[in-house]
Amino acid sequence: MNILTKIAEVQTAVKAYRDDGQSLGFVPTMGALHEGHISLLRRSVAENGISICSIFVNPIQFDRPGDLENYPRNLERDFEMLESGGCHLVFAPPVEEMYPEKPGERYHFGALEEVMEGRHRPGHFNGVAVVVKRLFDICKPHKAYFGEKDFQQLMIIRELVKKENLPVEIVPCPIIREADGLAMSSRNARLTKEERAIAPVVFNTLTFIRQHARKMEIGNLLEQARKKLLAYPAVSVEYILVADEKTLQPVRTWEEATLLRAFVAIFLGNIRLIDNMEL
Ligand code: AMP
Repeated sequence: MNILTKIAEVQTAVKAYRDDGQSLGFVPTMGALHEGHISLLRRSVAENGISICSIFVNPIQFDRPGDLENYPRNLERDFEMLESGGCHLVFAPPVEEMYPEKPGERYHFGALEEVMEGRHRPGHFNGVAVVVKRLFDICKPHKAYFGEKDFQQLMIIRELVKKENLPVEIVPCPIIREADGLAMSSRNARLTKEERAIAPVVFNTLTFIRQHARKMEIGNLLEQARKKLLAYPAVSVEYILVADEKTLQPVRTWEEATLLRAFVAIFLGNIRLIDNMEL
């Protein structure tokens, strides 16, 4: 496995792979890797001749300074996991390499970014779009793999690809969970033992919504779901809603769309957790 930190080195390697007729799969990450990330890599390895992963904690997508400083980092362990997952090339640039100057690009995603993460984390999706566009330009993948864990991000990236006419296929990958249902996330490592014991309430609440979907009024169901979360004093709810899976706009009745998904964001102590489930 080749580990590179410079854009020019990656461009040279990518050109050689492409000249050789290889198909390139790409998995962008922020490191502190877990099985969720590795599931994306495995899918890429199964579908491509060459798999590239990036590890870059993208400062411009963080809206809370403490969150950036405390974001877990473990490069050596990440490299080991990627190597055993079959990754061929890792791009792990320092911040100055990706952003020699303050990035000035502004992407607009309309209604897609006016709800949920976009609404609660100002600037977040612009930061994501800036880094993903730059990473695509550098790595020139045929396919790029994104987790449904960050469902809205996946839709934003699809929109970015469409708007900018980028020659890459976006492949969505299912959410990987711990045995107790908690969606894997790098931030889980920052939960205290007590918080970790509470955290499955997110999955359990989404499961409750799915079980009662289309059987009772949405407003009433979401109110009960919210109460389940708030039964724990350490929990505060940022949003909990049912949305049209295609537009991500919240719905008030089950008839408003055929494909529906429940979305939730909570704070558990200082740690923000998000999750979603198809209904
Ligand atoms: P991150 O390192 O958090 O930026 O995530 C990198 C990629 O891994 C994104 O496409 C995420 O959606 C995906 N990912 C993170 N956690 C999971 C998970 N539990 N299951 C599936 N994909 C995930």
